Amino acid sequence: MQLFGLRGCYAGVAPIENGLFNIACSVPKDRIERFKDVEAVFEEMVGENHGLADLMRGSKRVSPWLASPLPRFSVHSNWPERVIPIGNAAAALEPIGGEGMGLALRSAELAAEMLSTESDLRLMQQKLQRDFIELWRWRRLLWRSVAMMVSRPILCELAVDVMNVTNVGERLVALAKGKDVINESASLQ
Ligand SMILES: Cc1cc2nc3c(=O)[nH]c(=O)nc-3n(C[C@H](O)[C@H](O)[C@H](O)COP(=O)(O)OP(=O)(O)OC[C@H]3O[C@@H](n4cnc5c(N)ncnc54)[C@H](O)[C@@H]3O)c2cc1C
Repeated sequence: MQLFGLRGCYAGVAPIENGLFNIACSVPKDRIERFKDVEAVFEEMVGENHGLADLMRGSKRVSPWLASPLPRFSVHSNWPERVIPIGNAAAALEPIGGEGMGLALRSAELAAEMLSTESDLRLMQQKLQRDFIELWRWRRLLWRSVAMMVSRPILCELAVDVMNVTNVGERLVALAKGKDVINESASLQ
């Protein structure tokens, strides 16, 4: 997937099949509100990055734009009967945490383990809700705070400087993500 930095936002372009590619962008709401038209917003964004403009030259949109606010919610306790939500269906946090995929996989793993050990469906839901609350716990609050911080250029530059000078910051971020730094050259996404 290619990622393109744009003014205050970014776009990812991923090839799929038959010469088609998928484009996904994270766009501030005031920009959408200004145009009230996603196509017009995208045209403006394409003009902000030569690489993206080169890629889009001669291309044709083949399906409608789909737009939605980024979902953010914690683990609910009102799961429908006989349903076990996993991943973003169970909870959603700030994408900047870069942990949505990991949490989706881990919650699926926990659900699979529970299915093989617990036969009472109601009990299974209760135990999984508890495990999921533990899994997502304070990451939601943490990454919302980090997102707010890094969207302020001065604070972001300061954080990058601290990360560059010492690997303590890197270790703290890794631990906050529920990981450990495996070796000195391990990099963070
Ligand atoms: C802008 C952005 C950037 C992100 N960056 C990162 C990142 O860098 N690293 C990271 O780890 N995570 C990132 N995430 C989060 C990550 O993409 C999600 O948390 C993760 O994909 C959730 O996986 P999932 O399987 O729960 O849901 P999804 O990946 O959303 O899968 C759900 C699927 O179900 C399909 N579906 C929905 N309804 C129906 C229906 N009724 N019938 C059939 N199919 C249906 C959907 O089309 C979709 O394909 C980002 C998210 C966003 C929005």
